Amino acid sequence: MAVAYDEKQIKTLVREVLKDMSILTPENESDTSHERACNGRKIIIIGAVAAGMSAASKIKRLDKSAEVMVYEADEHVSYGACGLPYYISGDNDDVKKLYARPQEFFTKAGITLNTKHAVTKIFPVDKKIAVHDLKNNEFKIDHYDKLLIATGARAVTPDVEGADKQGVYSIKTVPDAEKIREDVLRPDVRRALIVGGGYIGLEACEAMLKRGMRVTIIEAADRLLGAFEPEMSELARKELEKHGVSIKTGEKLVKIEGATRAERVVTDKGSHEADLVILALGIKPNTEFLADSGVLLSENGAVITDREMRTNIGDIYAAGDCATVYSHIAGENVYLPLGGPANKCGRVAAANMLGASDKFIGVLGSAAIKVMDIEIATTGLTAVQAAGLKMDFAETVVAAPDLPHYYPGQTPLTIKLISEKKSGKLLGASACGEKGAVLRIDALAVAVYAGLSAETLSMMDFCYAPPFATVWDAMNIAGGKAARE
Ligand SMILES: Cc1cc2nc3c(=O)[nH]c(=O)nc-3n(C[C@H](O)[C@H](O)[C@H](O)COP(=O)(O)OP(=O)(O)OC[C@H]3O[C@@H](n4cnc5c(N)ncnc54)[C@H](O)[C@@H]3O)c2cc1C
Repeated sequence: MAVAYDEKQIKTLVREVLKDMSILTPENESDTSHERACNGRKIIIIGAVAAGMSAASKIKRLDKSAEVMVYEADEHVSYGACGLPYYISGDNDDVKKLYARPQEFFTKAGITLNTKHAVTKIFPVDKKIAVHDLKNNEFKIDHYDKLLIATGARAVTPDVEGADKQGVYSIKTVPDAEKIREDVLRPDVRRALIVGGGYIGLEACEAMLKRGMRVTIIEAADRLLGAFEPEMSELARKELEKHGVSIKTGEKLVKIEGATRAERVVTDKGSHEADLVILALGIKPNTEFLADSGVLLSENGAVITDREMRTNIGDIYAAGDCATVYSHIAGENVYLPLGGPANKCGRVAAANMLGASDKFIGVLGSAAIKVMDIEIATTGLTAVQAAGLKMDFAETVVAAPDLPHYYPGQTPLTIKLISEKKSGKLLGASACGEKGAVLRIDALAVAVYAGLSAETLSMMDFCYAPPFATVWDAMNIAGGKAARE
Protein backbone atom coordinates (compact mmCIF):
# COMPACT_ATOMS: atom_id res chain seq x y z
CA MET A 1 0.00 0.00 0.00
CA ALA A 2 1.52 3.35 -1.02
CA VAL A 3 2.07 5.89 1.77
CA ALA A 4 1.28 9.53 1.02
CA TYR A 5 3.87 12.06 2.19
CA ASP A 6 3.14 15.73 2.60
CA GLU A 7 5.07 18.32 0.63
CA LYS A 8 7.46 19.18 3.47
CA GLN A 9 8.36 15.52 4.06
CA ILE A 10 9.06 14.95 0.37
CA LYS A 11 11.27 18.09 0.18
CA THR A 12 13.25 16.78 3.14
CA LEU A 13 13.56 13.37 1.49
CA VAL A 14 14.84 14.94 -1.74
CA ARG A 15 17.44 16.94 0.16
CA GLU A 16 18.55 13.80 2.00
CA VAL A 17 19.01 11.92 -1.28
CA LEU A 18 20.88 14.88 -2.82
CA LYS A 19 23.19 14.89 0.20
CA ASP A 20 23.68 11.11 0.06
CA MET A 21 24.74 11.44 -3.54
CA SER A 22 27.11 14.33 -2.72
CA ILE A 23 25.14 16.59 -5.06
CA LEU A 24 24.16 18.82 -2.18
CA THR A 25 27.16 19.76 -0.02
CA PRO A 26 27.51 22.21 2.89
CA GLU A 27 29.17 24.61 0.39
CA ASN A 28 26.34 24.68 -2.12
CA GLU A 29 23.40 23.97 0.14
CA SER A 30 21.86 27.42 -0.33
CA ASP A 31 22.50 27.34 -4.09
CA THR A 32 19.57 25.94 -6.08
CA SER A 33 21.30 25.81 -9.48
CA HIS A 34 21.29 21.99 -9.33
CA GLU A 35 17.57 22.29 -9.95
CA ARG A 36 16.62 22.84 -13.58
CA ALA A 37 14.35 25.72 -14.31
CA CYS A 38 10.90 24.44 -15.19
CA ASN A 39 9.89 25.39 -18.71
CA GLY A 40 6.86 23.11 -18.74
CA ARG A 41 8.29 20.95 -21.53
CA LYS A 42 10.73 18.49 -20.02
CA ILE A 43 9.15 15.09 -20.18
CA ILE A 44 10.85 12.18 -18.49
CA ILE A 45 9.86 8.66 -19.46
CA ILE A 46 10.91 5.70 -17.32
CA GLY A 47 11.11 2.52 -19.39
CA ALA A 48 11.97 2.24 -23.09
CA VAL A 49 9.97 -0.60 -24.60
CA ALA A 50 6.40 -0.55 -25.91
CA ALA A 51 4.61 2.08 -23.81
CA GLY A 52 7.67 4.24 -23.18
CA MET A 53 8.99 4.46 -26.73
CA SER A 54 5.60 4.80 -28.38
CA ALA A 55 5.03 7.76 -26.05
CA ALA A 56 8.48 9.25 -26.74
CA SER A 57 8.00 9.03 -30.52
CA LYS A 58 4.50 10.46 -30.36
CA ILE A 59 5.64 13.42 -28.25
CA LYS A 60 8.30 14.27 -30.80
CA ARG A 61 5.82 13.95 -33.65
CA LEU A 62 3.42 16.32 -31.89
CA ASP A 63 5.98 18.81 -30.63
CA LYS A 64 9.56 18.82 -31.87
CA SER A 65 10.55 21.37 -29.24
CA ALA A 66 9.61 19.16 -26.28
CA GLU A 67 12.58 17.82 -24.33
CA VAL A 68 12.18 14.05 -24.03
CA MET A 69 14.49 12.23 -21.65
CA VAL A 70 14.14 8.44 -21.38
CA TYR A 71 15.69 6.35 -18.61
CA GLU A 72 15.91 2.60 -19.20
CA ALA A 73 17.46 0.17 -16.72
CA ASP A 74 18.29 -2.39 -19.43
CA GLU A 75 20.45 -1.93 -22.53
CA HIS A 76 17.77 -3.20 -24.89
CA VAL A 77 15.09 -0.76 -26.00
CA SER A 78 12.04 -0.79 -28.23
CA TYR A 79 11.96 -4.51 -28.87
CA GLY A 80 8.98 -6.79 -29.37
CA ALA A 81 8.91 -9.22 -26.45
CA CYS A 82 6.05 -10.90 -28.35
CA GLY A 83 8.62 -12.06 -30.90
CA LEU A 84 10.90 -13.80 -28.38
CA PRO A 85 9.28 -17.28 -28.65
CA TYR A 86 9.74 -17.17 -32.44
CA TYR A 87 13.41 -16.29 -32.04
CA ILE A 88 13.82 -19.28 -29.71
CA SER A 89 12.00 -21.56 -32.15
CA GLY A 90 14.10 -20.42 -35.11
CA ASP A 91 11.13 -19.02 -37.03
CA ASN A 92 13.19 -15.84 -36.91
CA ASP A 93 16.96 -16.26 -36.69
CA ASP A 94 17.85 -12.58 -36.71
CA VAL A 95 17.77 -11.01 -33.26
CA LYS A 96 17.96 -7.52 -34.81
CA LYS A 97 14.50 -8.03 -36.29
CA LEU A 98 13.07 -8.05 -32.75
CA TYR A 99 13.78 -4.34 -32.43
CA ALA A 100 11.04 -2.06 -33.71
CA ARG A 101 13.60 0.72 -34.22
CA PRO A 102 17.36 1.04 -33.68
CA GLN A 103 18.49 3.34 -30.86
CA GLU A 104 19.92 5.83 -33.40
CA PHE A 105 16.39 6.37 -34.74
CA PHE A 106 15.32 7.81 -31.41
CA THR A 107 18.48 9.87 -31.02
CA LYS A 108 17.91 11.34 -34.50
CA ALA A 109 14.34 12.16 -33.53
CA GLY A 110 15.76 14.27 -30.68
CA ILE A 111 14.96 11.84 -27.86
CA THR A 112 17.65 11.52 -25.18
CA LEU A 113 17.88 7.84 -24.45
CA ASN A 114 19.79 6.78 -21.32
CA THR A 115 20.13 3.02 -21.22
CA LYS A 116 21.49 1.24 -18.13
CA HIS A 117 19.94 3.99 -16.01
CA ALA A 118 17.50 2.79 -13.35
CA VAL A 119 15.16 5.22 -11.67
CA THR A 120 15.24 4.37 -8.00
CA LYS A 121 12.85 6.90 -6.48
CA ILE A 122 10.49 9.69 -7.42
CA PHE A 123 9.78 12.90 -5.48
CA PRO A 124 6.48 14.23 -6.82
CA VAL A 125 6.30 17.48 -4.88
CA ASP A 126 9.70 18.63 -6.11
CA LYS A 127 9.14 16.96 -9.48
CA LYS A 128 12.43 15.10 -9.24
CA ILE A 129 13.61 11.57 -9.74
CA ALA A 130 16.68 9.77 -8.44
CA VAL A 131 18.58 7.88 -11.15
CA HIS A 132 21.25 5.20 -10.81
CA ASP A 133 23.65 5.16 -13.77
CA LEU A 134 24.41 1.43 -13.80
CA LYS A 135 27.32 1.77 -16.24
CA ASN A 136 29.36 4.14 -14.08
CA ASN A 137 27.70 3.35 -10.75
CA GLU A 138 26.87 7.02 -10.29
CA PHE A 139 23.73 8.64 -9.02
CA LYS A 140 21.99 11.79 -10.07
CA ILE A 141 18.80 13.70 -9.53
CA ASP A 142 16.82 14.89 -12.54
CA HIS A 143 13.87 17.21 -12.81
CA TYR A 144 10.70 16.71 -14.83
CA ASP A 145 7.75 18.78 -15.81
CA LYS A 146 5.78 15.70 -16.81
CA LEU A 147 6.68 12.14 -15.92
CA LEU A 148 5.57 8.92 -17.62
CA ILE A 149 5.99 5.66 -15.73
CA ALA A 150 6.33 2.94 -18.37
CA THR A 151 8.36 0.42 -16.39
CA GLY A 152 6.42 -2.65 -17.51
CA ALA A 153 6.51 -5.87 -15.56
CA ARG A 154 8.92 -8.69 -14.85
CA ALA A 155 8.45 -12.44 -14.86
CA VAL A 156 7.39 -13.92 -11.54
CA THR A 157 10.07 -16.21 -10.11
CA PRO A 158 8.69 -18.81 -7.72
CA ASP A 159 10.15 -18.94 -4.24
CA VAL A 160 11.19 -22.60 -4.50
CA GLU A 161 14.47 -24.43 -4.05
CA GLY A 162 16.46 -24.71 -7.27
CA ALA A 163 14.73 -21.88 -9.18
CA ASP A 164 18.16 -20.26 -9.62
CA LYS A 165 19.84 -23.35 -11.14
CA GLN A 166 21.40 -23.24 -14.59
CA GLY A 167 18.98 -24.22 -17.28
CA VAL A 168 16.03 -22.54 -15.54
CA TYR A 169 14.67 -19.55 -17.43
CA SER A 170 11.86 -17.06 -17.77
CA ILE A 171 11.08 -15.54 -21.17
CA LYS A 172 10.83 -11.79 -20.78
CA THR A 173 13.86 -10.09 -22.28
CA VAL A 174 16.15 -10.45 -25.29
CA PRO A 175 18.98 -11.92 -23.15
CA ASP A 176 16.51 -14.50 -21.75
CA ALA A 177 15.67 -15.59 -25.29
CA GLU A 178 19.33 -15.66 -26.31
CA LYS A 179 20.26 -17.93 -23.41
CA ILE A 180 17.34 -20.30 -24.06
CA ARG A 181 18.18 -20.38 -27.76
CA GLU A 182 21.76 -21.40 -26.99
CA ASP A 183 20.47 -24.15 -24.73
CA VAL A 184 17.89 -25.61 -27.11
CA LEU A 185 20.62 -26.00 -29.73
CA ARG A 186 22.67 -28.23 -27.41
CA PRO A 187 22.43 -31.94 -28.23
CA ASP A 188 22.30 -32.85 -24.53
CA VAL A 189 19.32 -30.57 -23.84
CA ARG A 190 16.35 -32.55 -25.16
CA ARG A 191 13.70 -32.57 -22.44
CA ALA A 192 11.92 -29.32 -21.65
CA LEU A 193 9.62 -28.78 -18.72
CA ILE A 194 7.38 -25.75 -18.75
CA VAL A 195 5.90 -24.50 -15.50
CA GLY A 196 2.69 -22.62 -16.32
CA GLY A 197 0.13 -23.28 -19.04
CA GLY A 198 -0.77 -19.70 -19.91
CA TYR A 199 -0.11 -18.18 -23.31
CA ILE A 200 3.62 -17.60 -22.74
CA GLY A 201 4.03 -21.20 -21.50
CA LEU A 202 2.26 -22.49 -24.60
CA GLU A 203 4.30 -20.31 -26.95
CA ALA A 204 7.45 -21.61 -25.24
CA CYS A 205 6.12 -25.15 -25.66
CA GLU A 206 5.67 -24.68 -29.39
CA ALA A 207 9.21 -23.27 -29.67
CA MET A 208 10.63 -26.32 -27.86
CA LEU A 209 8.64 -28.72 -30.07
CA LYS A 210 9.99 -26.95 -33.15
CA ARG A 211 13.49 -27.54 -31.77
CA GLY A 212 12.70 -31.26 -31.61
CA MET A 213 12.45 -31.43 -27.82
CA ARG A 214 10.18 -33.54 -25.67
CA VAL A 215 7.94 -31.25 -23.65
CA THR A 216 6.05 -31.57 -20.38
CA ILE A 217 3.81 -28.77 -19.11
CA ILE A 218 2.79 -28.57 -15.48
CA GLU A 219 -0.08 -26.26 -14.60
CA ALA A 220 -1.47 -25.76 -11.09
CA ALA A 221 -5.01 -24.97 -12.33
CA ASP A 222 -7.28 -27.62 -13.78
CA ARG A 223 -6.83 -26.42 -17.37
CA LEU A 224 -4.46 -24.66 -19.75
CA LEU A 225 -5.04 -21.07 -20.93
CA GLY A 226 -7.02 -20.01 -17.88
CA ALA A 227 -7.74 -16.57 -19.38
CA PHE A 228 -9.61 -18.20 -22.30
CA GLU A 229 -12.90 -20.11 -22.35
CA PRO A 230 -12.72 -23.75 -21.13
CA GLU A 231 -13.80 -24.97 -24.59
CA MET A 232 -10.72 -23.26 -26.06
CA SER A 233 -8.48 -24.70 -23.33
CA GLU A 234 -9.71 -28.17 -24.22
CA LEU A 235 -8.98 -27.68 -27.93
CA ALA A 236 -5.47 -26.42 -27.05
CA ARG A 237 -4.88 -29.44 -24.85
CA LYS A 238 -5.95 -31.88 -27.60
CA GLU A 239 -3.74 -30.12 -30.14
CA LEU A 240 -0.67 -30.26 -27.87
CA GLU A 241 -1.30 -33.89 -26.95
CA LYS A 242 -1.56 -34.67 -30.66
CA HIS A 243 2.00 -33.33 -30.92
CA GLY A 244 3.22 -35.50 -28.06
CA VAL A 245 3.22 -32.94 -25.23
CA SER A 246 2.68 -34.37 -21.76
CA ILE A 247 0.26 -32.09 -19.90
CA LYS A 248 -0.10 -32.28 -16.14
CA THR A 249 -2.86 -30.02 -14.89
CA GLY A 250 -3.63 -29.67 -11.18
CA GLU A 251 0.06 -30.18 -10.45
CA LYS A 252 2.18 -27.70 -8.52
CA LEU A 253 5.89 -26.98 -8.66
CA VAL A 254 7.67 -27.89 -5.41
CA LYS A 255 11.39 -27.67 -6.27
CA ILE A 256 13.95 -28.03 -9.02
CA GLU A 257 16.75 -30.54 -8.44
CA GLY A 258 20.13 -31.03 -10.08
CA ALA A 259 23.85 -30.70 -9.34
CA THR A 260 24.44 -27.24 -10.82
CA ARG A 261 21.99 -27.48 -13.71
CA ALA A 262 18.32 -28.37 -13.56
CA GLU A 263 17.89 -32.15 -13.94
CA ARG A 264 14.53 -32.82 -12.38
CA VAL A 265 11.36 -30.93 -11.43
CA VAL A 266 9.61 -32.12 -8.30
CA THR A 267 5.89 -31.40 -8.02
CA ASP A 268 3.20 -32.18 -5.46
CA LYS A 269 2.28 -35.22 -7.59
CA GLY A 270 5.69 -36.66 -8.50
CA SER A 271 8.78 -35.67 -10.43
CA HIS A 272 9.79 -35.08 -14.06
CA GLU A 273 13.26 -35.36 -15.59
CA ALA A 274 14.19 -32.18 -17.45
CA ASP A 275 17.27 -30.67 -19.11
CA LEU A 276 15.70 -27.24 -19.35
CA VAL A 277 12.96 -25.55 -17.33
CA ILE A 278 10.90 -22.58 -18.45
CA LEU A 279 9.08 -20.66 -15.75
CA ALA A 280 5.96 -19.05 -17.18
CA LEU A 281 4.10 -18.12 -14.03
CA GLY A 282 2.89 -14.66 -14.86
CA ILE A 283 4.30 -11.21 -14.36
CA LYS A 284 4.55 -8.54 -11.68
CA PRO A 285 4.49 -4.76 -12.33
CA ASN A 286 7.86 -3.01 -11.85
CA THR A 287 6.62 -0.41 -9.40
CA GLU A 288 8.59 -1.04 -6.19
CA PHE A 289 10.54 2.19 -6.76
CA LEU A 290 7.26 4.08 -6.27
CA ALA A 291 6.95 2.97 -2.65
CA ASP A 292 6.31 5.99 -0.42
CA SER A 293 5.83 8.26 -3.45
CA GLY A 294 2.11 8.66 -2.93
CA VAL A 295 1.33 7.18 -6.38
CA LEU A 296 -1.66 4.91 -5.90
CA LEU A 297 -1.18 1.26 -6.76
CA SER A 298 -3.72 -1.52 -7.19
CA GLU A 299 -3.55 -4.77 -5.22
CA ASN A 300 -1.10 -6.40 -7.66
CA GLY A 301 1.16 -3.35 -7.61
CA ALA A 302 0.01 -1.81 -10.93
CA VAL A 303 -0.26 1.99 -11.06
CA ILE A 304 -3.88 3.12 -11.03
CA THR A 305 -4.61 5.48 -13.90
CA ASP A 306 -7.65 7.20 -15.34
CA ARG A 307 -8.63 7.03 -19.02
CA GLU A 308 -6.18 9.84 -19.78
CA MET A 309 -3.34 7.78 -18.23
CA ARG A 310 -3.04 10.21 -15.34
CA THR A 311 -2.14 8.84 -11.94
CA ASN A 312 -3.53 10.33 -8.73
CA ILE A 313 -0.57 12.76 -8.67
CA GLY A 314 -0.44 15.81 -10.93
CA ASP A 315 1.88 15.61 -13.95
CA ILE A 316 2.59 11.91 -13.42
CA TYR A 317 1.22 9.47 -15.98
CA ALA A 318 1.56 5.71 -16.37
CA ALA A 319 0.99 3.27 -19.23
CA GLY A 320 1.68 -0.31 -20.24
CA ASP A 321 2.29 -3.42 -18.17
CA CYS A 322 3.09 -1.36 -15.05
CA ALA A 323 -0.40 0.15 -14.98
CA THR A 324 -4.06 -0.72 -14.91
CA VAL A 325 -6.11 0.05 -18.00
CA TYR A 326 -9.75 0.97 -18.59
CA SER A 327 -11.92 -1.86 -19.85
CA HIS A 328 -14.64 -0.73 -22.25
CA ILE A 329 -16.83 -3.71 -21.57
CA ALA A 330 -16.37 -3.97 -17.79
CA GLY A 331 -16.55 -0.18 -17.37
CA GLU A 332 -13.74 -0.30 -14.83
CA ASN A 333 -9.97 -0.59 -14.64
CA VAL A 334 -8.40 -4.00 -15.17
CA TYR A 335 -4.87 -5.35 -15.39
CA LEU A 336 -4.25 -6.46 -18.97
CA PRO A 337 -0.51 -6.65 -19.69
CA LEU A 338 -0.47 -6.85 -23.47
CA GLY A 339 1.51 -5.15 -26.21
CA GLY A 340 -1.44 -3.55 -28.06
CA PRO A 341 -2.79 -1.64 -25.06
CA ALA A 342 0.77 -0.69 -23.96
CA ASN A 343 1.47 0.99 -27.30
CA LYS A 344 -1.92 2.68 -27.50
CA CYS A 345 -1.90 3.94 -23.90
CA GLY A 346 1.66 5.23 -24.39
CA ARG A 347 0.37 7.37 -27.24
CA VAL A 348 -2.62 8.64 -25.29
CA ALA A 349 -0.31 9.59 -22.40
CA ALA A 350 2.00 11.39 -24.85
CA ALA A 351 -0.76 13.61 -26.21
CA ASN A 352 -2.07 14.36 -22.72
CA MET A 353 1.38 15.23 -21.36
CA LEU A 354 1.45 17.89 -24.08
CA GLY A 355 -1.84 19.34 -22.93
CA ALA A 356 -4.55 17.26 -24.63
CA SER A 357 -7.33 15.49 -22.75
CA ASP A 358 -7.62 12.36 -24.88
CA LYS A 359 -9.43 9.46 -23.31
CA PHE A 360 -8.37 5.90 -24.12
CA ILE A 361 -11.33 4.08 -25.65
CA GLY A 362 -10.64 1.08 -23.45
CA VAL A 363 -9.52 -2.48 -23.93
CA LEU A 364 -11.74 -5.42 -24.76
CA GLY A 365 -9.26 -8.10 -23.72
CA SER A 366 -8.66 -9.22 -27.29
CA ALA A 367 -5.90 -11.84 -27.36
CA ALA A 368 -4.79 -14.59 -29.68
CA ILE A 369 -2.43 -17.54 -29.64
CA LYS A 370 -1.22 -20.06 -32.18
CA VAL A 371 -1.01 -23.55 -30.73
CA MET A 372 0.79 -25.69 -33.29
CA ASP A 373 -1.74 -26.05 -36.15
CA ILE A 374 -4.63 -24.15 -34.56
CA GLU A 375 -5.46 -20.54 -33.72
CA ILE A 376 -7.30 -19.51 -30.59
CA ALA A 377 -8.58 -16.00 -29.93
CA THR A 378 -10.86 -14.17 -27.56
CA THR A 379 -12.39 -10.72 -27.13
CA GLY A 380 -14.67 -9.10 -24.58
CA LEU A 381 -15.78 -11.05 -21.55
CA THR A 382 -15.39 -14.74 -20.97
CA ALA A 383 -18.12 -16.54 -19.02
CA VAL A 384 -15.96 -16.43 -15.89
CA GLN A 385 -15.47 -12.68 -16.22
CA ALA A 386 -19.16 -12.02 -16.96
CA ALA A 387 -20.10 -14.05 -13.88
CA GLY A 388 -17.54 -12.05 -11.85
CA LEU A 389 -19.31 -8.85 -12.95
CA LYS A 390 -22.64 -10.40 -11.88
CA MET A 391 -24.06 -10.18 -15.40
CA ASP A 392 -27.03 -12.22 -16.54
CA PHE A 393 -25.60 -13.85 -19.63
CA ALA A 394 -25.99 -16.79 -22.03
CA GLU A 395 -23.23 -18.96 -23.49
CA THR A 396 -23.55 -20.23 -27.06
CA VAL A 397 -21.11 -22.58 -28.75
CA VAL A 398 -21.24 -23.53 -32.43
CA ALA A 399 -19.03 -25.66 -34.63
CA ALA A 400 -19.21 -24.75 -38.33
CA PRO A 401 -17.01 -25.22 -41.39
CA ASP A 402 -14.95 -22.27 -42.60
CA LEU A 403 -15.50 -23.00 -46.31
CA PRO A 404 -18.12 -24.77 -48.48
CA HIS A 405 -17.62 -28.55 -48.73
CA TYR A 406 -16.83 -28.38 -52.46
CA TYR A 407 -13.94 -25.96 -52.04
CA PRO A 408 -10.56 -27.50 -51.13
CA GLY A 409 -9.20 -26.99 -47.65
CA GLN A 410 -12.39 -26.90 -45.57
CA THR A 411 -11.60 -26.91 -41.83
CA PRO A 412 -13.84 -26.67 -38.75
CA LEU A 413 -14.27 -23.52 -36.68
CA THR A 414 -15.57 -23.34 -33.12
CA ILE A 415 -17.13 -20.08 -32.00
CA LYS A 416 -18.39 -19.23 -28.54
CA LEU A 417 -20.46 -16.14 -27.80
CA ILE A 418 -21.30 -14.56 -24.48
CA SER A 419 -24.44 -12.42 -24.72
CA GLU A 420 -26.60 -10.52 -22.28
CA LYS A 421 -29.78 -12.52 -21.68
CA LYS A 422 -32.27 -9.65 -21.65
CA SER A 423 -31.00 -7.55 -24.56
CA GLY A 424 -29.07 -10.13 -26.58
CA LYS A 425 -26.12 -7.70 -26.57
CA LEU A 426 -22.80 -9.36 -27.35
CA LEU A 427 -20.43 -9.26 -24.38
CA GLY A 428 -17.67 -11.54 -25.57
CA ALA A 429 -16.55 -14.03 -28.19
CA SER A 430 -13.94 -16.75 -28.59
CA ALA A 431 -12.93 -18.80 -31.59
CA CYS A 432 -10.68 -21.68 -32.48
CA GLY A 433 -9.77 -23.27 -35.79
CA GLU A 434 -6.96 -24.07 -38.16
CA LYS A 435 -7.46 -20.80 -40.01
CA GLY A 436 -9.62 -17.71 -39.87
CA ALA A 437 -10.35 -17.86 -36.14
CA VAL A 438 -8.29 -14.80 -35.19
CA LEU A 439 -9.64 -12.66 -38.02
CA ARG A 440 -13.20 -13.57 -37.02
CA ILE A 441 -12.46 -12.48 -33.46
CA ASP A 442 -11.20 -9.17 -34.83
CA ALA A 443 -14.58 -8.70 -36.49
CA LEU A 444 -16.38 -9.79 -33.34
CA ALA A 445 -14.28 -7.33 -31.28
CA VAL A 446 -15.87 -4.51 -33.27
CA ALA A 447 -19.31 -6.05 -32.69
CA VAL A 448 -18.68 -6.31 -28.94
CA TYR A 449 -17.29 -2.79 -28.78
CA ALA A 450 -20.29 -1.41 -30.63
CA GLY A 451 -22.70 -3.32 -28.39
CA LEU A 452 -24.35 -5.16 -31.31
CA SER A 453 -26.88 -7.87 -30.52
CA ALA A 454 -26.62 -11.55 -31.40
CA GLU A 455 -29.62 -10.99 -33.69
CA THR A 456 -27.75 -8.31 -35.67
CA LEU A 457 -24.69 -10.56 -35.86
CA SER A 458 -26.82 -13.31 -37.35
CA MET A 459 -27.62 -11.07 -40.33
CA MET A 460 -24.34 -9.14 -40.53
CA ASP A 461 -23.13 -8.72 -44.09
CA PHE A 462 -19.79 -10.54 -43.89
CA CYS A 463 -17.81 -11.29 -47.04
CA TYR A 464 -18.84 -14.45 -48.86
CA ALA A 465 -16.98 -16.23 -51.65
CA PRO A 466 -16.12 -19.95 -51.57
CA PRO A 467 -12.33 -19.54 -51.13
CA PHE A 468 -12.93 -17.46 -47.97
CA ALA A 469 -16.20 -18.34 -46.23
CA THR A 470 -19.55 -20.07 -46.38
CA VAL A 471 -22.66 -18.16 -47.37
CA TRP A 472 -23.71 -18.14 -43.73
CA ASP A 473 -20.42 -17.44 -42.04
CA ALA A 474 -19.70 -19.23 -38.74
CA MET A 475 -20.22 -15.83 -37.04
CA ASN A 476 -23.73 -15.50 -38.55
CA ILE A 477 -24.52 -19.04 -37.42
CA ALA A 478 -23.28 -18.34 -33.88
CA GLY A 479 -25.26 -15.08 -33.75
CA GLY A 480 -28.42 -16.86 -34.92
CA LYS A 481 -28.09 -19.61 -32.35
CA ALA A 482 -27.40 -17.08 -29.56
CA ALA A 483 -30.44 -15.01 -30.60
CA ARG A 484 -32.70 -18.07 -30.39
CA GLU A 485 -31.35 -19.26 -27.03
C1 LIG B 1 7.30 -13.95 -24.42
C2 LIG B 1 6.28 -12.87 -24.53
C3 LIG B 1 5.33 -12.93 -25.52
C4 LIG B 1 4.37 -11.92 -25.63
N1 LIG B 1 3.44 -12.01 -26.63
C5 LIG B 1 2.51 -11.04 -26.74
C6 LIG B 1 1.55 -11.08 -27.79
O1 LIG B 1 1.55 -12.00 -28.63
N2 LIG B 1 0.63 -10.08 -27.86
C7 LIG B 1 0.61 -9.05 -26.96
O2 LIG B 1 -0.24 -8.16 -27.07
N3 LIG B 1 1.52 -8.99 -25.95
C8 LIG B 1 2.46 -9.93 -25.82
N4 LIG B 1 3.39 -9.85 -24.82
C9 LIG B 1 3.30 -8.74 -23.86
C10 LIG B 1 4.01 -7.49 -24.37
O3 LIG B 1 5.31 -7.81 -24.73
C11 LIG B 1 3.99 -6.47 -23.24
O4 LIG B 1 2.65 -6.16 -22.97
C12 LIG B 1 4.73 -5.20 -23.60
O5 LIG B 1 6.09 -5.43 -23.81
C13 LIG B 1 4.60 -4.19 -22.47
O6 LIG B 1 5.34 -3.06 -22.76
P1 LIG B 1 5.75 -2.03 -21.62
O7 LIG B 1 6.48 -0.94 -22.32
O8 LIG B 1 4.59 -1.69 -20.80
O9 LIG B 1 6.72 -2.84 -20.64
P2 LIG B 1 8.03 -3.67 -20.84
O10 LIG B 1 8.10 -4.28 -22.18
O11 LIG B 1 8.10 -4.59 -19.66
O12 LIG B 1 9.19 -2.57 -20.74
C14 LIG B 1 9.41 -1.84 -19.57
C15 LIG B 1 10.87 -1.39 -19.51
O13 LIG B 1 11.04 -0.60 -18.35
C16 LIG B 1 12.32 -0.85 -17.80
N5 LIG B 1 12.33 -0.50 -16.37
C17 LIG B 1 11.68 -1.13 -15.36
N6 LIG B 1 11.90 -0.51 -14.19
C18 LIG B 1 12.72 0.54 -14.46
C19 LIG B 1 13.30 1.57 -13.66
N7 LIG B 1 13.05 1.66 -12.37
N8 LIG B 1 14.09 2.47 -14.27
C20 LIG B 1 14.33 2.41 -15.61
N9 LIG B 1 13.80 1.47 -16.41
C21 LIG B 1 13.00 0.55 -15.85
C22 LIG B 1 12.51 -2.34 -18.03
O14 LIG B 1 13.90 -2.64 -18.03
C23 LIG B 1 11.86 -2.55 -19.37
O15 LIG B 1 12.80 -2.52 -20.41
C24 LIG B 1 4.38 -10.84 -24.70
C25 LIG B 1 5.33 -10.78 -23.70
C26 LIG B 1 6.28 -11.77 -23.61
C27 LIG B 1 7.30 -11.70 -22.51
